[in-house]
Amino acid sequence: MTKFVLVGSGLAGGLLAAYLGRRGYEVELYERRGDPREGNMIGGRSINLALSTRGIHALQQIGIADEVLKHAIPMRGRMIHEKSGALHLAPYDVDPNKHINSIGRAALNTTVIEAAQRHPNVRVHFNHKCTGVDLDSATAQLFNPPSPGYGVVSTSSSQQRQSGSDLNASTLDELSALAEKLVEKNPRSLPHRTFLALARLKQNRAADALAVYENVTVARGALTPSALVVHAAVLAANGRKDEAKSEISQLRTDQLLQEEKRLIENL
Ligand SMILES: Cc1cc2nc3c(=O)[nH]c(=O)nc-3n(C[C@H](O)[C@H](O)[C@H](O)COP(=O)(O)OP(=O)(O)OC[C@H]3O[C@@H](n4cnc5c(N)ncnc54)[C@H](O)[C@@H]3O)c2cc1C
Repeated sequence: MTKFVLVGSGLAGGLLAAYLGRRGYEVELYERRGDPREGNMIGGRSINLALSTRGIHALQQIGIADEVLKHAIPMRGRMIHEKSGALHLAPYDVDPNKHINSIGRAALNTTVIEAAQRHPNVRVHFNHKCTGVDLDSATAQLFNPPSPGYGVVSTSSSQQRQSGSDLNASTLDELSALAEKLVEKNPRSLPHRTFLALARLKQNRAADALAVYENVTVARGALTPSALVVHAAVLAANGRKDEAKSEISQLRTDQLLQEEKRLIENL
């Protein structure tokens, strides 16, 4: 049976998972944030969304349009406030009975995810941040704070492996070898190098982890908090604590995942 690995349980990811689940496919959906039902805000963008025909149609297909629209507030037009204080209503439609619907993003997102989860063949994994993909080998690298380290998820099997401090040496060797292959295939990929550096760090091969960054020039914008944290941890493991601290000072620690924080907690 074809298996799909989706990254991001936003509106598109959740809906696609529900559609694929309905067709009987095996779906693994990974989301970097925590489960919104456990009090985590989906947030980030606008608080409310305007839902209209196209969106409602998509929700109808998976049988949740009525459930979602129960909480909607009709929006018939845009009220323009002139400087003089005069009000001018610009209707969204010529037909006064037609309207768009204001709906909370978090509630809509949760309802869509729950619709996907009604299919036993759909599994949603929160707190999993994707840090790279390799389309040739059909693998995704995922950072999972509750079980320390990086995981490699393969779309070709249900296998999921993780490299972390609690893993045995042979699994770490395997992951390190896989990371080496990924870097060989795509030497310009910083996520792959980060993965390799972390795997070697966990193997207590500090110097080899540092060697991963040799002759690499990285554009400033490409330096994600995850990449910076691993690099700083590698520097520290090689006795270059001042440089590591200086790198960490560029980071907003609230942007870091729990496991990322753990990598630098002794600095
Ligand atoms: C200010 C603003 C207002 C908008 N208002 C409306 C509106 O009124 N009506 C409307 O229809 N549309 C609106 N949109 C557009 C709408 O938000 C997007 O079309 C929709 O959210 C796209 O869905 P998505 O699933 O692609 O992305 P998102 O909803 O952004 O979901 C992406 C998900 O992926 C996760 N993610 C990201 N990176 C990773 C990673 N590396 N690993 C794992 N998970 C990851 C994120 O945490 C997130 O949950 C608005 C957009 C903006 C910016």
